[in-house]
Amino acid sequence: MTQIAFIGLGHMGLPMARNLLKAGFALKVFDLLPTAVSELVSEGAMAARDASDAVQGATVVVSMLPASRHVEGLYLGDSGLLAQIAPGSLVLECSTIAPDSARKVHAAAKARGIDLLDAPVSGGTAGAAAGTLTFMVGGQAEALEKARPILAAMGKNLFHAGPDGAGQVAKVCNNQLLAVQMIGTAEAMALGVASGLDPAVLAEIMRQSSGGNWTLEKYNPWPGVMENAPASKGYSGGFMAELMAKDLGLAQEAAQATASSTPMGALALQLYRLLLKQGNGKLDFSAVQKLFVE
Ligand code: NAD
Repeated sequence: MTQIAFIGLGHMGLPMARNLLKAGFALKVFDLLPTAVSELVSEGAMAARDASDAVQGATVVVSMLPASRHVEGLYLGDSGLLAQIAPGSLVLECSTIAPDSARKVHAAAKARGIDLLDAPVSGGTAGAAAGTLTFMVGGQAEALEKARPILAAMGKNLFHAGPDGAGQVAKVCNNQLLAVQMIGTAEAMALGVASGLDPAVLAEIMRQSSGGNWTLEKYNPWPGVMENAPASKGYSGGFMAELMAKDLGLAQEAAQATASSTPMGALALQLYRLLLKQGNGKLDFSAVQKLFVE
């Protein structure tokens, strides 16, 4: 049986790992927070003492960490994981990180004879739980074929975006667009409600009209409009605003590197920074709604 090491069991990693368990893979899991590890152990996973212990005997490694520095810290250097993973193994790095950071990890993996893919995801915590994530993959097509059965247990759509780092480029573009849509939706909701409309009625009209978008379909930022959206649970769970600010920063770095004009992305980053400065970084990113209400 394929033994998988899964590292990083946060909002996304935990439900993704759970789907691998359900699909019958043997899992050894590690997170800096022991509670997440215990939860999966009670469902059949093995607990690892640390990341090194997790990869012992594994032929596949999946990681889902917050940002570039965590990923580089985990894999690179003399005591990094790439020095401990067996050559010929497959590494699926699913965090959203800088494309350059991903390329650095790719190069170090190649030097050790390890197949690595950058495979960031879209679909949020609901998609992670349902096993319907979209994977945007960067790296060799042969490695993607090897990874297909594992990714299929966690996601529905697999896209080969291109060579090393291309998955991260696609993800950064997607999240810039998502942030712009979320801010626009929050602004329109606040305008309508301030002008006397019922938020649920307005949300439904816009959802079915030309302003319709993903945030109106699945993730309305106005509390009470969608029962299961983070906005209706005090903006808890979901995708933290500080992670969205990180992704918008990555988009601005990409824009700088390519001399691209991204005024909407730049403004979105500024608005998320403001939200963070107000102490809301740990809330879901739909809490950007707070900038538009008293
Ligand atoms: P999170 O903060 O909830 O989870 C990250 C986990 O990594 C935490 O449990 C943390 O303890 C663990 N961790 C950090 N460093 C570690 C290390 N060295 N070893 C072991 N564990 C370590 O974040 P998340 O929401 O699960 O997001 C993870 C990644 O996925 C981010 O890059 C994010 O941008 C991306 N993402 C998130 C969503 C979402 O909706 N939450 C959607 C798509 C992509």
